[in-house]
Amino acid sequence: MVAGLKWCAFELSGRSGLTRRLAASRWRQRRLLILCYHGVSLADEHEWNPELYISPRTLEKRLDALARMGCTVLPLDEAVRRLYDGTLPDRAVALTFDDGFYDFKARALPLLQARGLPATVYVTTQRAHRNPTVAHLLTSYMLWKLGRVKGAVGHEAMERLSVESDGMLHARLLSVMTPEELAGISAAGVAIEMHTHRHVAPIDPDEFMDDVRTNREAIAGMTGRQPRHLCYPSGIYRPGYLSRLAADAVETATTCDPGLASAASHPLMLPRFVDSEACHQLTFEAWVSGVATWLPRRTRTANAA
Ligand SMILES: [Zn+2]
Repeated sequence: MVAGLKWCAFELSGRSGLTRRLAASRWRQRRLLILCYHGVSLADEHEWNPELYISPRTLEKRLDALARMGCTVLPLDEAVRRLYDGTLPDRAVALTFDDGFYDFKARALPLLQARGLPATVYVTTQRAHRNPTVAHLLTSYMLWKLGRVKGAVGHEAMERLSVESDGMLHARLLSVMTPEELAGISAAGVAIEMHTHRHVAPIDPDEFMDDVRTNREAIAGMTGRQPRHLCYPSGIYRPGYLSRLAADAVETATTCDPGLASAASHPLMLPRFVDSEACHQLTFEAWVSGVATWLPRRTRTANAA
């Protein structure tokens, strides 16, 4: 469905009162919206990759909308327990952030703390331990920056880019949190959960489980807390994973398949809505009310990191 037509449908449903009625319905009350974010811009990352990043200003608009629409933002652990117990509050929402970018601590956390909102961060531990800068993203960002160095050519452009890249590394752009930083946000109440050690989804389920266990132990070592929830890297999950995860006491796993979770959802295949700068505010609010689930949509949005 073309985006413009969708917004028209969302506008109409807002004006006719359908959005409000659906948001207040028993149908929505039995469902949980799990929101997925990746990076929150330290500078202009949302202009470079609006599918992966959101600006702090847009994130604030989203959090304000959750308050205005009377949502209850729950910690993920409590939210999924109450989903299956049938005791969810009205318009339940859980906030999740993938990959453990440093900008979560610098940009998102202050906004969440100011509103008293809980969040889960899914962490790939190999990056945190080894080299917090995500090299492939940094390369892509620098090439984009190079294209924006107007009027400069050849040697001059490269020099200016070199100065900028020093600044980027200093500002921790496109880098993930260190083990010490993860321990710090865990102590501040953020739930640190699993995203595999190496950000992989191998075909062999035993190899996948080895990676998940390494990830779990690394997180427990950093935070002193045993993680129980997983997010599939790049939203990829395979049938062979599910029984092994269940046998290894992984309680839930989230995908990037858009949808609201219900008690009928498999706990190891929970849908999420991936929000970013590229998402229109009307679309976001349509997911919060539940209206968006009644329109045709893409079945999968891959996680770009
Ligand atoms: Zn990821």
